[in-house]
Amino acid sequence: MFTSSEISEIQKLLTPRHKIVIITHYNPDGDAVGSSLGLKHFLKQMGLEADVIVPNDFPKFLKWMPEAKQIIIADYKRKQAGEAIYNADVIFVLDFNASHRSGNLVGPWLEKARAKKILIDHHQQPDAFDYVYSDVTVPATSQMIYHFIQELNEENLVNKDIAECLYTGIMTDTGGFRFRSTSATTHRIVANLIEKGADPAMITSNTWDTNTVSRLHLLALILSRIEVVKDGKVAILWLKREELKEFGFQKGDTEGFVNYGLSIMGTQVAAFFMEDLYDDFIKISFRSKEDVDVNQFSRKYFNGGGHINAAGGKYMKTIEETIVDFKEKIEQEDF
Ligand code: 5GP
Ligand code: MN
Repeated sequence: MFTSSEISEIQKLLTPRHKIVIITHYNPDGDAVGSSLGLKHFLKQMGLEADVIVPNDFPKFLKWMPEAKQIIIADYKRKQAGEAIYNADVIFVLDFNASHRSGNLVGPWLEKARAKKILIDHHQQPDAFDYVYSDVTVPATSQMIYHFIQELNEENLVNKDIAECLYTGIMTDTGGFRFRSTSATTHRIVANLIEKGADPAMITSNTWDTNTVSRLHLLALILSRIEVVKDGKVAILWLKREELKEFGFQKGDTEGFVNYGLSIMGTQVAAFFMEDLYDDFIKISFRSKEDVDVNQFSRKYFNGGGHINAAGGKYMKTIEETIVDFKEKIEQEDF
């Protein structure tokens, strides 16, 4: 939560005289897009306009959300995005903890911007911003947007558009209300969102029942060669660039693949290694159960971070070398 004096300062910043921008992280996911659009629709209810800027494109299965098409994708609209950030009086920084997580283009713009910056995020170890609402116990930034609305005493402004966006963010970041930080409070908020017009069946179907046959074939391929090491405690999945191309990879196609590793009985950690489509690096996704901290693990060895049970990283070797190094590192850890 913000303190009450922070809230009154933020309230003063939220006036039609100020240009407001909302920024989220590179490779935006359901929570990034859901929290950003949810906040935008809320500000609209308050009579305020805001631009949502994302560093790069996001998966098609998130584009059904109200006004998703108006999101400014900085990769495609450099000038518009750069000017909006430069001219902003207030920037909401959502669902990430450090400027560099918004990428090589937006990150430096964000750092240089003269705007007052308001961080709302649930990742570990946030950087300093003018106002910080950081809580790693909340499963989704979209839930934090709801708490922010409550703190402003404006819950009655929540409409269908806001509800749909925040519901999507909470649903995706909790893996369908399953992950550990999903709480009774989460469910109470979700119940309110349904009352305000979020339709669970429609949202689930638009977001998750969107497989293509080629995505299922890609999944079949990686499942067929899943490897379990360290006495069954660690599952390894991987994909090469050529395979991504062969199966007509679309953004978001590999979302959720890593969770299959964790669904194996007895696994504590799942790691998914993927060659980047264009550049020579390996993108890694880590997932873990219970107290196994993949945020620390990824920070220590794989230039990354995230949450205790879900983190990502980047590695500059070949995929074969990366997996060899990974197998070596896990032997040094006591999970
Ligand atoms: P995913 O595996 O779904 O890409 O990411 C899991 C979590 O780790 C997300 O919360 C994401 O924000 C975070 N994350 C992913 N990649 C990186 C990275 O390279 N660096 C940091 N610090 N966090 C990451
Ligand atoms: Mn999130």
